[in-house]
Amino acid sequence: MALITKAARGTQDVLPSQSHNHRFIENTLLEIADEFGFKEIRTPVFEHTELFTRSVGDTTDVVQKEMYTFNDKGGRSITLRPEGTAGAARAFLEHGLFNEPLPQKVCYLTSCYRYEKPQAGRLREFHQFGVECFGTASPAADAEVISLANEVFGFLGVEDIHLEINSIGCPECRKNYHTALKDYFESKKGDLCGTCLERLEKNPMRILDCKSPICSKIAEDAPIVIDYLCDDCADHFKKVQEYLDEMMIPYSINPQIVRGLDYYTRTVFEFVSDSIGAQGTVCGGGRYDGLMEELGGSHVPSLGFGMGIERLMLLLESQGIKLPEPKRCDLYVAPIGDKASLKAASLVQALRQSGVAAQFDVAGRSVKAQMKYANKLGARFTVVIGDDDIEKGVVTVKNMDDGETVEIAIDEFDEEFLELTLQQSAQDLQDAVANGDNIDLKSFLGGLM
Ligand code: ATP
Ligand code: MG
Repeated sequence: MALITKAARGTQDVLPSQSHNHRFIENTLLEIADEFGFKEIRTPVFEHTELFTRSVGDTTDVVQKEMYTFNDKGGRSITLRPEGTAGAARAFLEHGLFNEPLPQKVCYLTSCYRYEKPQAGRLREFHQFGVECFGTASPAADAEVISLANEVFGFLGVEDIHLEINSIGCPECRKNYHTALKDYFESKKGDLCGTCLERLEKNPMRILDCKSPICSKIAEDAPIVIDYLCDDCADHFKKVQEYLDEMMIPYSINPQIVRGLDYYTRTVFEFVSDSIGAQGTVCGGGRYDGLMEELGGSHVPSLGFGMGIERLMLLLESQGIKLPEPKRCDLYVAPIGDKASLKAASLVQALRQSGVAAQFDVAGRSVKAQMKYANKLGARFTVVIGDDDIEKGVVTVKNMDDGETVEIAIDEFDEEFLELTLQQSAQDLQDAVANGDNIDLKSFLGGLM
């Protein structure tokens, strides 16, 4: 094959053989968020560029190197969202959600775009599950947001993941810290990369986040922000820890975490794994008490996190965590001849309306080829319909698991078949109990119809 082109570098297709895993993860994330009271928000893929330069910050890697920015036909500068928080915050302000009872808790599943060097766990189009809790400064909210991410990993049975937290304080206490950082990096000026020299003037904390090995090495001995917290920020950080302790969520304090986006204040955190290589941060987040004002709104202390779906999938894979199998075909109808094909079409239509995953031959194949196809689909039951079956008004349904057959009247096929599958499912359940299998009843029942 000579294809005219392939998928763009750093993008991924999710093929039908994999998409059920994504759907399961996405449903799980949204369900957990729902339990915590976070409602889904959907915002556009692209925004005006200044939304990100102002919020993410123009000295960050994301804004300086990674954004997909272009002028549209009207000459406006547009950027594909590199992250989810800025758009959600803009929508919160633009639609006056601050007038609703606070906190407003929102979540989203979105694609994000960053022009990065593609490698394992680092793509140019990736997906984030994010939550944002708008309108509370309480450390209880920090603990709740962290506990939501923790719940996700717990629910999915992920083991090798640890929570690291830090506080980067408020603009007040950061003034002193910036002075200390400037003094320190001034003395190493000769070795810093060009970007960091610029950061030294504008935003010295960004140097701590530089990916260049020399700058990272220098940053290791830099003053740490926790030593510069004002009393209020120190107290807030202490209380976050008290909540985490009370909820028995294990964590460690990592004073090196500053996160890559400028809007963060006070609590920052990461869930990190050693199982998926260099890109080990599966979830990152924190508080951003000043963001809404930065965007032209009033003071709305808030926080949230972003979890990388592709990294989460890598993590599940690396730990051998099996996700539920996709729903099988319940019934495959194999007609012989034109008349039977018409009957098959109306049979599966009635069954589908009753919630049965039914299929029939739409390729005009021989019975043998159809049965092969039904086998590949993993059909639980099959039925072959010939012209004389239609005349007799009954067909024989075969259970593909044990080979048993049952006669069903064509006229009441949908009702009788439903009864049959329910019996079969009850039998499956009894067998599973008898075998002492571990049954997740919710997903078992959910998988039936
Ligand atoms: P990193 O340290 O990998 O550069 P980051 O600090 O830029 O991550 P955030 O902006 O906080 O990450 O995004 C939150 C999460 O989104 C990350 O923890 C990660 O799981 C995911 N993520 C970020 N960038 C990418 C990417 N290029 N490809 C895949 N996932 C990503
Ligand atoms: Mg990054």
